[in-house]
Amino acid sequence: MKDVIISGAGPVGLFLACELALAKCSVLILEKAADPQSPLKQLPFGMRGLSAPTIEALYRRGLLKELELHKRVKVPHAGQGPRQAGHFAGIPFYSDNIDTSQWKYRLPSSTDTSLLTEMQEIETVLVRRAETLGVEIRRGLAITDFHQTANGVTVESAEQSFQAKWLVGCDGSRSVVRKAGGFEFAGTEPEFTGYSTQVDIADPEKLSPGRNVTARGMYLQSQPGYLIMQDFDGGAFHHAEKPITPEHVQAVIRRISNTDVTISALHIATTWTDRARQATTYRNGRVLLAGDAAHIHAPLGGQGLNLGLGDAMNLGWKLAATIQEKAPEGLLDSYYTERYPIGVQVLDWSRAQVGIMRPDPDARALNAIFRDLMNTRDGATYIAGRVWGIHTHYDSGGSGGEHPLVGHSVPNFELEDGITIGGLIHDGQGILLDFDRNPSLKTWVDNYGDYIRYVSGKAKEQLGLSAVLIRPDGFIVWAADQQVDLLAVKEAAAKWFVAPAPVP
Ligand SMILES: Cc1cc2nc3c(=O)[nH]c(=O)nc-3n(C[C@H](O)[C@H](O)[C@H](O)COP(=O)(O)OP(=O)(O)OC[C@H]3O[C@@H](n4cnc5c(N)ncnc54)[C@H](O)[C@@H]3O)c2cc1C
Repeated sequence: MKDVIISGAGPVGLFLACELALAKCSVLILEKAADPQSPLKQLPFGMRGLSAPTIEALYRRGLLKELELHKRVKVPHAGQGPRQAGHFAGIPFYSDNIDTSQWKYRLPSSTDTSLLTEMQEIETVLVRRAETLGVEIRRGLAITDFHQTANGVTVESAEQSFQAKWLVGCDGSRSVVRKAGGFEFAGTEPEFTGYSTQVDIADPEKLSPGRNVTARGMYLQSQPGYLIMQDFDGGAFHHAEKPITPEHVQAVIRRISNTDVTISALHIATTWTDRARQATTYRNGRVLLAGDAAHIHAPLGGQGLNLGLGDAMNLGWKLAATIQEKAPEGLLDSYYTERYPIGVQVLDWSRAQVGIMRPDPDARALNAIFRDLMNTRDGATYIAGRVWGIHTHYDSGGSGGEHPLVGHSVPNFELEDGITIGGLIHDGQGILLDFDRNPSLKTWVDNYGDYIRYVSGKAKEQLGLSAVLIRPDGFIVWAADQQVDLLAVKEAAAKWFVAPAPVP
């Protein structure tokens, strides 16, 4: 029996499998599609924006370098001139407007705030790592149902059954695990059908290049023949699940662009909507959800992959500790209490964009105000901070001595020998980073053996800190500026780590 079965070898299922295997759990992934390659995962449709927490997570597991070997495009940074750095509802914000001094926990050694990459590339890198770590991936096997008992889960697929202690549904927006598990999926209905198409256009001069917001919706030509459209039809076409024909694409682009443009051939087409729904719980007994299986929303501003990879980074070490009976009470429940509110924020972020993209006078008026605000320094800094996930943090509930860094991702401190803290988290252990080489901290943390690694030494920039305790996913659970309160660090550690039993 495996420790965990994951349904779906998308990026979230793969990254979660890597995290579990890193913590020495046995993992089987069952994937519906026989072939991992798809034109929709490749450029330009497969283009994905990665935000700061995702980039940090990949860096902390040594994976960022592997992405760098592939075709990676850097999004311009703050202070790099008046280049577009991103958008909100299609309204651009510019890098020279962003005031990074407002982001006090970012250091010169911090990883990038945003990158563009490709779905196929991320999946390839994650498959390679998963297989290296011993994950078994079986393709062409769709999960159809499951049954759980107090001790495990039996999963059905193509007249075969598979057993595991836990099942995690990473099977995307139409998740069978979510449906069979009776999870409530609450939210709001769509306002539009979105189209990603590759077409031949007989008279391309009739369409304008770039992003065009019209009285009927939006169309975008990132390069000739690659047409993305938003048609405010209440999501009707997407949900009818009808075949996408060249005639239909032509009718939609004519309506949106108010032209008589002719589509002479259709090569690739897929649809999506702004339906925004979230599972009201992420766990039912031994079954959990992560990624699009747990939440869906419009892909505006590119947040879904980041949200899902964040779920995986949060869940992996907690589920592993639970399986290995080294989880303090409530550790696994904290997956939901931490990740659900982040999902709420992302769904609302996509709803806000739809709200000012509607083809009506109210939305146009709001859009104009947003455009003005985003041209201010504070406006651009706020929007960039949200789009790039700069302020992502978990509510510590007052634990960890109330230090403002508690619940935040650890800044990428660079030690005097040039090693960064992100580079030390590769093994997925907790870390006590002690800038002051405090002997009582070292004696205390030695009780944790391999669970918490002790790292000491001065950093080039310490943000006034003397020590921090870091979880395996890189989030801070305790921090001290000067005087170390040993009781406070013990209390914080007890919430996240179980001390190994003393050797008799
Ligand atoms: C046009 C578009 C642009 C986007 N741009 C961005 C962006 O820039 N940035 C960003 O962060 N996000 C973006 N997203 C969202 C992002 O692609 C998704 O959020 C992300 O792919 C979710 O990953 P996942 O692993 O949860 O699900 P998926 O990628 O959907 O993977 C699920 C996997 O489960 C498999 N599966 C399904 N059913 C079963 C079953 N019954 N049994 C076994 N396997 C099954 C599927 O075959 C698939 O391989 C975009 C989405 C779209 C549509």
